[in-house]
Amino acid sequence: MNQTYAACPNCAQLRTRVVCTKRDDSGVVIRRRCCFICEHRWYTMQYPEVAINKSEVKWVGRNGCKAEFVPLT
Ligand SMILES: [Zn+2]
Repeated sequence: MNQTYAACPNCAQLRTRVVCTKRDDSGVVIRRRCCFICEHRWYTMQYPEVAINKSEVKWVGRNGCKAEFVPLT
């Protein structure tokens, strides 16, 4: 469960979904969101980050220094 509620800035609809999650070097989690209703897309930031399931993290890169968030379906 990594879904958080963020109202759509375009139509104020609360039913939105996370399209993509990125974590920058300072530990800020950036989410790309999409509105179910008007399909408006925008970003949200989250800090400090929330705990996620270990199996949702995929290590990438040559030396394994980068992590990617892979939500469980
Ligand atoms: Zn909307």
